[in-house]
Amino acid sequence: MLKEAIYHRPKNEFAYAYDKHTLHITLRTKRNDIHSVQLIFGDPYIWKDGEWQIQKIAMQKTGNDSLFDYWFAAVKPEFRRMRYGFEITDTKGETLIYGEKGFYSTIMLDDPAYYFCFPFLNEVDVFDAPKWVKDTVWYQIFPERFANGDPSNDPVGTLEWGSTDPTYDNLFGGDLEGVIKHLDYLVELGISGIYFTPIFKASSNHKYDTIDYFEIDPAFGDKLTFKRLVQEAHKRGIRIMLDAVFNHSGFYFPPFQDVLKNGEKSKYKDWFHIHEFPIKTEPVPNYDTFAFTPFMPKFNTGNPEVKEYLLEVGRYWVREFDIDGWRLDVANEVDHQFWREFRKEVRAIKPDVYILGEIWHDAQEWLSGDQFDAVMNYPFTYGALNFFAKDTMKAVEFTETIQRVIHMYSRNVNEVAFNLLGSHDTPRISDIAGFDKEKIKQLFAFQLSFTGSPCIYYGDEIGMTGGQDPGCRKCMVWEEDRQDKELLTHVKKLIQLRKTYPLLANDGEIRFIDANDDTNHFIFTKETDSELLVVIMNHGEEAINLKLPIDLTSFHNEFEELYAGEKLVLEDQHEAIIEVPQNGFKFLLFTRK
Ligand code: CA
Repeated sequence: MLKEAIYHRPKNEFAYAYDKHTLHITLRTKRNDIHSVQLIFGDPYIWKDGEWQIQKIAMQKTGNDSLFDYWFAAVKPEFRRMRYGFEITDTKGETLIYGEKGFYSTIMLDDPAYYFCFPFLNEVDVFDAPKWVKDTVWYQIFPERFANGDPSNDPVGTLEWGSTDPTYDNLFGGDLEGVIKHLDYLVELGISGIYFTPIFKASSNHKYDTIDYFEIDPAFGDKLTFKRLVQEAHKRGIRIMLDAVFNHSGFYFPPFQDVLKNGEKSKYKDWFHIHEFPIKTEPVPNYDTFAFTPFMPKFNTGNPEVKEYLLEVGRYWVREFDIDGWRLDVANEVDHQFWREFRKEVRAIKPDVYILGEIWHDAQEWLSGDQFDAVMNYPFTYGALNFFAKDTMKAVEFTETIQRVIHMYSRNVNEVAFNLLGSHDTPRISDIAGFDKEKIKQLFAFQLSFTGSPCIYYGDEIGMTGGQDPGCRKCMVWEEDRQDKELLTHVKKLIQLRKTYPLLANDGEIRFIDANDDTNHFIFTKETDSELLVVIMNHGEEAINLKLPIDLTSFHNEFEELYAGEKLVLEDQHEAIIEVPQNGFKFLLFTRK
């Protein structure tokens, strides 16, 4: 047994409260080293005849990455307190007990302090993202490029819609009225949430350089238009999430301009992190910024005045306009204390606001229930694009990557993870996939059958193209003869299926059960007490006849392939052979007898 690879630590993704009754416990061990694991647990205060009283349950292996296996158990401790350890048996038959103080050869019952501690399951600490998020399919809109619904607000220099490629500073007149006019398009697509990149007054076309956090950019409309947009969206069952840039302001944000003008005498001098006066912007700014751009001065969110100002921004748009979510730009560079207060403040107004942080890396520290509900799941994106679009990963490495993503966070975090394939910051999936439609279709099929809260970047559903930004920010194509209708129908169908069959969304326990580099296929399943969904993805260039590595004897002979809507019958439950075409996929649904 490789003891050095065995890892557990409480109060993070390895041990957390899933709901007010249930603890989830995970153990990590060296890949293929361990045969079985029993969870040993008990209430620390229950003793009998001088012995601590324990129970044991078998842990399930939930997956592996390239180095480790992961073992899982859910427990509902009667008195919500738990001491616990692991009885680990390796493939050679050696058994050891693992607890907080190390490894032992026998289960010791004279002192629970040998074991790990989950002191009390306090309901108030349970991670509780809004319930609606896990059933939401998002659509990301870059407002300058989605639709021009009101030519009267077009800024000076507005170009004809789609007449040329996007550059860093050209303008096409997109606005909020354009979104209102196309809400029914989104309804038909099956969208239930819109994520808007910033809409507040700013100087650039992307609006990440805010000038006024309390005003809509005049090129996008006004507050009345925005209010109407929220109302019209809500009427159609679509939630609205706005983008808040609280890490830094824009260069033309009046308080920063005041500091530039008045230097040390400015009453806003402590709103930013200014190293010395006079301020200089070149060659390197002598104040903290986003990256090194002098145009985005970093806020001093430790200053109570700044904090109150930004918290009021957070409250204002929820209170006055009834928005449903905040996406927080560069969230990882803002202090944790600020985000804890932010969560309390906006939730006090609307308890089911979704709080999504822009964090591209491992973000456990922000996802413990006191700060964010989710982060933008770029590790998911990385795996999906490398396998399906770029072919830089084969099936085994891909499934190991995705399983590592799954095991990075708790289950309640995974259920609301913001799973995107592309955004305004990345090349379009069409370009990454070399304009290969079968690959793009597979990407969507994977994204929309995986756990989490998927987001579609505007125009990807009709095959729009474009490289790294600004290329990926082209004007939305509305002429139907220039839209890829086949792809659109495919995406609509996948969203509809996800809504009809909760196993395609967040129901059931997900497991990756098969991956093969020769054929380049993989299989994952999601299972509940009554149903089993088997998703097969064949990314190879040959059709395959696959024998399902699943015991189907407790399921009915009749099953269904959901994408084609075909009813099928198993000829032999011990040997289910499924044909999957090249670059194809199957969604098989079995029901338990
Ligand atoms: Ca306009």
